[in-house]
Amino acid sequence: MKRLAVRLLTSTALLFVGTEVLWSDPLLEPLPLQTVQNQKKAALGRALFFDPILSRDGTISCAHCHDLENGGDDGRPRSVGIEGRLGTLNISASIGVALYPDNGENIMELIKNADNAMYLAKSMGKNNFQFFVPELSRRMHRRLEIEQGLNKALKNGEFWLAFQPQYHLDDHSLYGAEALLRWESEELGIVAPDEFIPVAEETGMINAIGKFVFEEACKTLARLDAEGFSLDNIAVNVSSKQFTEKGLPEFFTDTVARYGLTPARITLEITERYIMDTSAYDDKLLDTFKELGFGISVDDFGTGYSSMSYLKKLPIDTIKIDKSFIRDIPHDTSDNEITKAIIVLSGSLGYKTVAEGIENAEQEHFLLEHGCHYGQGYHFSRPLPFDEFVDFVRSRAKEEEKAAL
Ligand code: C2E
Ligand code: CA
Ligand code: CA
Repeated sequence: MKRLAVRLLTSTALLFVGTEVLWSDPLLEPLPLQTVQNQKKAALGRALFFDPILSRDGTISCAHCHDLENGGDDGRPRSVGIEGRLGTLNISASIGVALYPDNGENIMELIKNADNAMYLAKSMGKNNFQFFVPELSRRMHRRLEIEQGLNKALKNGEFWLAFQPQYHLDDHSLYGAEALLRWESEELGIVAPDEFIPVAEETGMINAIGKFVFEEACKTLARLDAEGFSLDNIAVNVSSKQFTEKGLPEFFTDTVARYGLTPARITLEITERYIMDTSAYDDKLLDTFKELGFGISVDDFGTGYSSMSYLKKLPIDTIKIDKSFIRDIPHDTSDNEITKAIIVLSGSLGYKTVAEGIENAEQEHFLLEHGCHYGQGYHFSRPLPFDEFVDFVRSRAKEEEKAAL
């Protein structure tokens, strides 16, 4: 982390620079940390410390840009490539900017605010810069509250799982359920997963939380079995960050065995964005889960730019069409076309398709007509707490019995 002050004609800006190493070649990973740090320093020196200029229209530029690759016209800091013995090491920077005196009248305040702005830059996909704005203080404060709340949430038993039924589109029979995490914090009240999962990921708490989710999902499946309402499948969301945890496959198999279940009844939902980012994980891990017998579903499909050639190599069972495409069916022709194309693509690769976010009969009809296998959404059922979910499963079972008579 580097801090540097840039003196302008009218004011001073404090830049907080965080660097990220982007591995362009997995062979580079064994490079000793010290080497990486030295290279990072050298590259940053070339990229940023030579005359960084903060111009009045708010863009940052560098006077000596001959070492920089790609981009830059948009005002983003550019990533820097370093030729190493095994390939190219790409380094990018996330920069937070605090202006004196508007964003702080003393150095400590300026550093704090530039640091906050840098974290915003990192959370916005890295390799960009952000100015401090007062709103950021509120966001950082909220983030801190969430982080502190999460620290004790597991111990205080503040998490629970909701289950959203998944069904066969053709006959409305129950196929399974997706386990969705809920957090009722003592201090903050109900916090949405979209808000707290990213914080749990950043802080590493997702590992313990993910284990809790997996265990609870298995416990629920076993409880349903014991009550005589066997469910074929339960889908569990697995965060990309959990993939870096050692011993995850062993934990999953041990837990499944402890509850007397088989891995085939558990589907791991992994987002397409993550699956496509092969640099971020050991891609053998997906094969490992598959070999152990777990189902694998690509979540939020359509948002992560998969290539067909890559997709067909993956050990996956289902593709889950992202709800953003389902929302405006059948009125938005491009969403109709994309959805149809995903179903055809998925079928041609031998995968099953699930549509999430089905909110009305029109959408359901469209999906069924075009060959989608499974559905999930408010139209069929909202995510339900365990007791309500059992009632739901019980009443479906009765209806199915009646229909069979
Ligand atoms: P997701 O995996 O894409 O989950 C589907 C989200 O869509 C859920 O939001 C669900 O409540 C919502 N949903 C279901 N049916 C409908 C519908 O008909 N219309 C609309 N508009 N939305 C619908 P939720 O529960 O707020 O979860 C949000 C995200 O948080 C999830 O998106 C998932 O990425 C993450 N998440 C939830 N639980 C876990 C977990 O246990 N582990 C991890 N790693 N992530 C989780
Ligand atoms: Ca999911
Ligand atoms: Ca999804």
